[in-house]
Amino acid sequence: TDVTTLLLSRIRDVADYPEPGVMFKDITPLLADPAAFTALTDALAGIVGSTGATKIVGLEARGFILGAPAAVRAGVGFIPVRKAGKLPGATLSQAYDLEYGSAEIEVHAEDLSSGDRVLVVDDVLATGGTAEASIQLIRRAGADVAGLAVLMELGFLGGRARLEPALAGAPLESLLTV
Ligand code: 5GP
Repeated sequence: TDVTTLLLSRIRDVADYPEPGVMFKDITPLLADPAAFTALTDALAGIVGSTGATKIVGLEARGFILGAPAAVRAGVGFIPVRKAGKLPGATLSQAYDLEYGSAEIEVHAEDLSSGDRVLVVDDVLATGGTAEASIQLIRRAGADVAGLAVLMELGFLGGRARLEPALAGAPLESLLTV
């Protein structure tokens, strides 16, 4: 569609970032283009509607940039999932494995409860490790996962298959797949 073409045209490939051999998808040209950023925000807000989500959880850091305007547009609350040590209140945390080492993410415990239906938003789905840990965190907080929405899915990394058990039937909506 026209929106797909517009969004794709505003993502820049950066070779060998953050390390040799990686082709990084840079979304900053899209953010700098109001037509593209508006189209993306509208598309994400539409997924809030189609999934019946009542909240957006954005994943640090680019999930904040995409998720916050979509939450405002859709009329739902926005909740940040942050890297460990950044949130001031009582948190739930979830550790997960990286290629080398591990990482930990957190959410304010009081921000989620049973009855919430959460749409998780991030910019890029790569291996799916970040999204998987986020889904586990949201469930442990007692909320339901309405779905996962990403701007771009890197299909060759197999994130979709990895997330199938965690999503448990909830949709994975990627606006672009490469
Ligand atoms: P995963 O956990 O799926 O392997 O990695 C996804 C996380 O890493 C996301 O939070 C995403 O922002 C970041 N990420 C991985 N690869 C890229 C990339 O090529 N471009 C951008 N913008 N983010 C990436």
